Amino acid sequence: MDNYESDFLVIGSGIAGLCFAIHASRFGTVTIITKKEDSESNTNYAQGGIACVLDDNDSFELHIQDTLTAGRGLCNEGSVRIIVEEGPARIKDLIDWGVDFSHLNAATNPYKLDLGREGGHSVNRIVHARDLTGRAVEEQLVALIRANKSIRLFEHHFAVELITDHHLSGTPGTIGDTCYGAYVLDTISRNIVPVRAEFTCLATGGAGRTYLHTTNPSIATGDGYAMAYRAGADIANMEFIQFHPTTLLHEGAPSFLISEALRGSGAVLCHRSGREFMEKYHPLKSLAPRDVVARAIDNEMKLSGEPCVFLDIRQADATQTEKHFPYIYKRCRDLGLDITRDLIPVVPSAHYTCGGIRVDHEGHAGIDGLYACGEVSCTGVHGANRLASNSLLEALVFSYRAATDAGARLAARSRNSRAAIPAWDDSGTNDNEEWILLSHNKTEIQSVMWDYVGIVRSDLRLSRAMRRITLLEREIENFYKRTRITVPLLELRNLVTTAKLIVLSAAKRRESRGLHFTTDYPGQNDRYWKKDTVLSNK
Ligand SMILES: Cc1cc2nc3c(=O)[nH]c(=O)nc-3n(C[C@H](O)[C@H](O)[C@H](O)COP(=O)(O)OP(=O)(O)OC[C@H]3O[C@@H](n4cnc5c(N)ncnc54)[C@H](O)[C@@H]3O)c2cc1C
Repeated sequence: MDNYESDFLVIGSGIAGLCFAIHASRFGTVTIITKKEDSESNTNYAQGGIACVLDDNDSFELHIQDTLTAGRGLCNEGSVRIIVEEGPARIKDLIDWGVDFSHLNAATNPYKLDLGREGGHSVNRIVHARDLTGRAVEEQLVALIRANKSIRLFEHHFAVELITDHHLSGTPGTIGDTCYGAYVLDTISRNIVPVRAEFTCLATGGAGRTYLHTTNPSIATGDGYAMAYRAGADIANMEFIQFHPTTLLHEGAPSFLISEALRGSGAVLCHRSGREFMEKYHPLKSLAPRDVVARAIDNEMKLSGEPCVFLDIRQADATQTEKHFPYIYKRCRDLGLDITRDLIPVVPSAHYTCGGIRVDHEGHAGIDGLYACGEVSCTGVHGANRLASNSLLEALVFSYRAATDAGARLAARSRNSRAAIPAWDDSGTNDNEEWILLSHNKTEIQSVMWDYVGIVRSDLRLSRAMRRITLLEREIENFYKRTRITVPLLELRNLVTTAKLIVLSAAKRRESRGLHFTTDYPGQNDRYWKKDTVLSNK
């Protein structure tokens, strides 16, 4: 048990957790736990890149304005300014750490990087490593972590619960003001151990798996939102789920994202006949913000009765397309689709969770000793809609700020008691044989969320969803109390809690804004609703 103890505990090994760990290691010892292999994360699948002002033709004000426009009046302007102005320094960190971004021959910006364009950005500002940006970043960060003597990384370790005051006092129901670490399940040995730390950083990523169709890998089950909610942290703006407009529709193949960068390079949305339709919805046509494009596609599919729409990049130079998008080109080619000659069938799917654990400008989550970074956090940067490629930037900037803040507090030794942390109590639980019920429950949650809490919502749909999710939550909680813990059970419990948070937030917001569109309140209501929806378990 002592083996795991350190100054900082980081839960999650995506860009946010790994960057927090690297920066925190300047101040003390770091333990990272991650529930699967080290690089399995949303980060690893990011294709497009990282938005950053690096070009003479660009400016901080322009990037801030683009972000605020996408966020539909709900961004925290201070947080937006922070990520935009501190972005270049954090990109420089990545370059210094050896991340191999795509370069340009002509020296039009200080780092000579090739800057791509994505929807909602008024100029080219997307730093990328071909169309495999996330993987390039993740691999380099993992290599750095492995070589750092102050950091230990434990794969196949699942954070079950944050340790707060009620675990120490033994009084169930007491909500904690202090976080002492986390109870962690070693998924190989099946032991649950308390991992103590002065400071804990939740970097568990998003919740795409709450929905039936998603671009997110299997790790994205919303564990961090659920754990933080149970521990008493505020959870904000969960109704704002971004649906990526263009994932490949191919029978038998898992959802695969066709990056927005393809539209930045000239691909247009159209019907099977080649007829374009985006001019009906937005002046930027196929480069309109994601929420507009997703709703337009949803509407066109309803009008045509077709299961998808199409992307057409046939008019672009084939060699350039293959060179700039080698990953997409190959994945499609393996499925018998040549994107330089064929139309690409696409549908929207759940992609990014804009809301999350409410944090301040230092990433602090309102419980002493607890920070949250990356997709699981709500810094206020995204407001009602995330601007493409701002999430990796947000993770980079806020993980640095959080680690720096925690480091300063550690130096001042301002906190944490040495009170004994009790062992995990699993008395009264048994191995259950009805595991199949878990996968039924999971599919039910995902279907309810897809059918009733998707791109277009209504009061009727949301109340249907709430009834079903409440029933499922009760069943799952009952199962949890009687059953010896396993990963599928923990994920299911977190999934249903996260689904509930999304439905509750969506039901609260009686207007349509950004990613939240409801037919009962189709207009934006600034008078009453220019504010965050906040949920608390306190
Ligand atoms: C297909 C795809 C493409 C994208 N493209 C872009 C892009 O081009 N630009 C951009 O800015 N953003 C993009 N995004 C979004 C971006 O990738 C994510 O928001 C970002 O990577 C999140 O980083 P993170 O570190 O917060 O979480 P993640 O990278 O998801 O990492 C979360 C980590 O937490 C671990 N974890 C979760 N729960 C537990 C638990 N209970 N115990 C222990 N460990 C746990 C996971 O295993 C994982 O290691 C994309 C997302 C997807 C899915």
